[in-house]
Amino acid sequence: MTDNKFWIGGKWVSPSSGKTFPTFNPATGEVLAQLPLASQEDVDLAVAAARKAFPAWSQKMQVERSQMMMKIAAVIRKRAAEVTRLEITEHGSVLEQANHIPMGAAGEYETSAVISRSLIDDFVPSMPNLLTYIKREPIGVAGIITPWNHAIMMMAVKTAQALSAGNTVVLKPPSVNSLMGLKLAEIFEEAELPPGVANVITGPGASTGNIMANHPGIDVIGFTGSSATGKEIMAAASKTLKRLTMELGGKNPFIILKDANLEEIVPQFARQKCDNVGQHCSGAGRYYVHKDLYDRFVNMYVSEMKKIVVGDPADKKTMMGPMASQENRDRIEEYIKLGIKEGARLLLGGERPTAPPLNKGWFIMPAVLADVKQNMRVAREEIFGPVAVIMEPFTSEEEVIELANDNSYGLVASVWTNDVARGMTFINRLHAGTVQVNNSMLGPGMPWGGFKESGIGKESGLEGTRCYTQLKAVAIKYGEIKFPR
Ligand code: NDP
Repeated sequence: MTDNKFWIGGKWVSPSSGKTFPTFNPATGEVLAQLPLASQEDVDLAVAAARKAFPAWSQKMQVERSQMMMKIAAVIRKRAAEVTRLEITEHGSVLEQANHIPMGAAGEYETSAVISRSLIDDFVPSMPNLLTYIKREPIGVAGIITPWNHAIMMMAVKTAQALSAGNTVVLKPPSVNSLMGLKLAEIFEEAELPPGVANVITGPGASTGNIMANHPGIDVIGFTGSSATGKEIMAAASKTLKRLTMELGGKNPFIILKDANLEEIVPQFARQKCDNVGQHCSGAGRYYVHKDLYDRFVNMYVSEMKKIVVGDPADKKTMMGPMASQENRDRIEEYIKLGIKEGARLLLGGERPTAPPLNKGWFIMPAVLADVKQNMRVAREEIFGPVAVIMEPFTSEEEVIELANDNSYGLVASVWTNDVARGMTFINRLHAGTVQVNNSMLGPGMPWGGFKESGIGKESGLEGTRCYTQLKAVAIKYGEIKFPR
């Protein structure tokens, strides 16, 4: 039994207080486990273990750390069935997606094993008789705080980047997917990661996460979550000037130009909107549709959403399972009510299924809001659920670029057209960390991260790993230096 203990310093450690919190099966609402809540004392212990492990881990050869990343990946692949099961029972992922998750998580460690080998020093030819170079070093102890959507993927990408670059880690998984965090600790244990190199503690963000953000022994925070929490972490971390790398919320504009092929794109939009119950940061937050296509787009969207099969996530036929938490389901319902109150048209969905067994879990039916105006809160705030927000039709490209950029977020923007060259004219003008033409999924190795309130720094690719390093300027004098006169 590991679900009532933390993994600290290479051992399963009992919590200092007897406090616990529950995780649930979102498909049934039943309690899955009671988990230990990490207090200040527990965080101190985990940070101390990570600090103790840092000198040896940071001084290992890169090849040794890369080998360890490959070992972790191999253990994940071996234990894929356990990860898949937990992804279904603790998160509500549908079978098809849950089957892919462990492979994706293993892939993060494999990618980091390779990418971290490119973290080479730069020689700078500055002066005769002075050897000058820029050395890239790990930062120290990384506090990793992750969200619940695709929980193990988020933990994997961040810990892989931080560890492969030579940092040691204290990981706090999201409360609602804490069992997955402890599963990852079991995987680290089986991979024989040296004691203290990665430590896993569980607890709510408002207490355990906050203690981490304030902790003087943590040097860098790797965070993915909402922009509101990002700001709180930034304020707490400012007291010790921690380095920060943050992947935050989004309200991503998808721009559908007059010549777009609706038969091709609308079915994929509807599927993506319900993928992971709409709980993904890269999904469409606002559809801007040209006036000539508007009615057809809306009607097609509604009929595609009606095809989504909502049900038991373990059933092969199910396309959309429950929301990951009751709190998020309730929040989505509030947003739908708000949209209607603000004057948007609810064309479909938003209700809870009433027939057993779905009436017990945190299910909600896919919803479509149309005629949404730019100043409505449902147009400005991230909803993070299976609710399509179709904005009022636009008439000119100039107008839609302005509307798309008129938001505090800047995570993703995309343009859909049959004329790729025309789509490319939008790239420079859209303010987002990722801009796509006729595409909605970035390939591996690409850096991910937002502009504006969508984040700081990048995740994935070499840029993501660099966020867990700092630069040291080195100068070695080996002869007389003559300054030019
Ligand atoms: P939250 O911001 O609520 O939580 C994220 C993590 O932070 C959780 O582990 C949470 O703990 C913890 N936390 C909460 N409050 C604090 C605090 N005061 N101090 C320290 N830690 C804290 O986000 P969600 O989990 O609800 O995730 C959804 C959000 O994540 C969306 O906004 C989404 O856009 C964003 N996201 C962004 C991605 C990107 O790449 N840009 C990718 C995926 C998600 P606990 O679980 O206990 O609340």
